[in-house]
Amino acid sequence: MDKGLIKQIIRSKRRTLALQVTPDASLIVRAPEKVSEETIFTFVQKKIKWILHHQKLARESFRPSVKREFVDGERFLYLGEWHTLFVIQDVTRPIVFNEKKFLFSESFLSDAKQLFEQWYRKQAYEVIKDRVRLYAETAGLSFKRISITGAWKRWGSCEPKGTLNFSWRLIMAPMKIVDYVIVHELVHLEERNHSRNFREKVRLLFPNYQQAEMWLKDNRWLLNF
Ligand SMILES: [Zn+2]
Repeated sequence: MDKGLIKQIIRSKRRTLALQVTPDASLIVRAPEKVSEETIFTFVQKKIKWILHHQKLARESFRPSVKREFVDGERFLYLGEWHTLFVIQDVTRPIVFNEKKFLFSESFLSDAKQLFEQWYRKQAYEVIKDRVRLYAETAGLSFKRISITGAWKRWGSCEPKGTLNFSWRLIMAPMKIVDYVIVHELVHLEERNHSRNFREKVRLLFPNYQQAEMWLKDNRWLLNF
């Protein structure tokens, strides 16, 4: 068992061992004072299936409770990296992304959330459009158009008539994850279901696709705003 799995062991006068998976998917063990670490690890090992299942559920439903405040020093995710926000006074544009920093004009603060979303949407469209073209050309596939959605759990979708939809939230993920979702949806132009053929075609264009799928499952809560 990987001991790093346990975030905290809380000892008390209780008589039995108990496990708790917290909303952020951490594992906490409650234990009697005199039980050895070895006994605890064996217990955790025996319950590993239950733990992994509940961690998966927690990760799928967890949304950070941190509210965006749009203050100096707050960090925002873009293409897999965190960038610091600076509230400044003298710009005419509300948001300027400059050398890995977000400069936000103080006079637009009351609409900050909306303006940030607009900024992300625009970036998503520009970045995704180019990558879709690139992969479509490589794979010899043709699509009709690209549209950016506000979906939270559905990173992308492919309409039968050839429109590819992508959530703007995806642009917070690293480029390779964005690429994977693009490849996934492009392959849907030919293969509607997640069949064996589908997976083989995805693999040809994106060999590490399973890793990317896992990343999206584990980090979904991060791509929130
Ligand atoms: Zn799919």
